[in-house]
Amino acid sequence: MYKILVCEDEENIVSFLEAELRFEGFLVDVAGDGEKAIELFKENEYDLILLDIMLPKKNGLECLREVRKIGGVPVIILTARKDVYDKVAFLNSGADDYITKPFETLELIARIKRNIERVSGMRGVKVNHTGLRVDSENYRVFIGEAELSLTKTEFEILNYLNTNQDKVKTRDEILNAVFGDFYGESNVVDVNVKNIRAKILKYTNQEVITTVRGKGYVIRV
Ligand code: CA
Repeated sequence: MYKILVCEDEENIVSFLEAELRFEGFLVDVAGDGEKAIELFKENEYDLILLDIMLPKKNGLECLREVRKIGGVPVIILTARKDVYDKVAFLNSGADDYITKPFETLELIARIKRNIERVSGMRGVKVNHTGLRVDSENYRVFIGEAELSLTKTEFEILNYLNTNQDKVKTRDEILNAVFGDFYGESNVVDVNVKNIRAKILKYTNQEVITTVRGKGYVIRV
């Protein structure tokens, strides 16, 4: 699961963000002022930071500069429509993206996922909000920090579905991708998916591979 630090002092925005992000499967910490933000940032590992510009005690720009001294975690700034100058200053200081308040939930979630994936993508890893990470170069699969031990066939199936996130794949398509011209029993796929799910279930209750009745399987973004 990905962990997000929300740095925002307006309580109605905080409770909205907390609810939406948790609903999407993210872990969320909240800092109501800049000092708290830096304190939490130093104590924890975050996958992304949402940073308000106008924060008490230490403003967003000061926070961003401190964060950037330490590491490359993606930072999305939350700006008001009028803060055009600030936006530029923030991007110049190492912010990755910005979103203007009041924001649309869908846009915010899309930007969060894109920024997390971009950073992970640089490591050759395809990520998913459930905490699934498939490192196809090294044949390794993780749920959060835990590594799964998969058979070759299980790995190929999971990797194929994960590479095609949000596209429903039929049993035949999966067989074809994994075994090439081999047209075996399509329940080979079902058996392997069942085994993969059992292995994943040790680490998360979230559904990673979804069954689409009458069609096949999909990994949702
Ligand atoms: Ca504020």
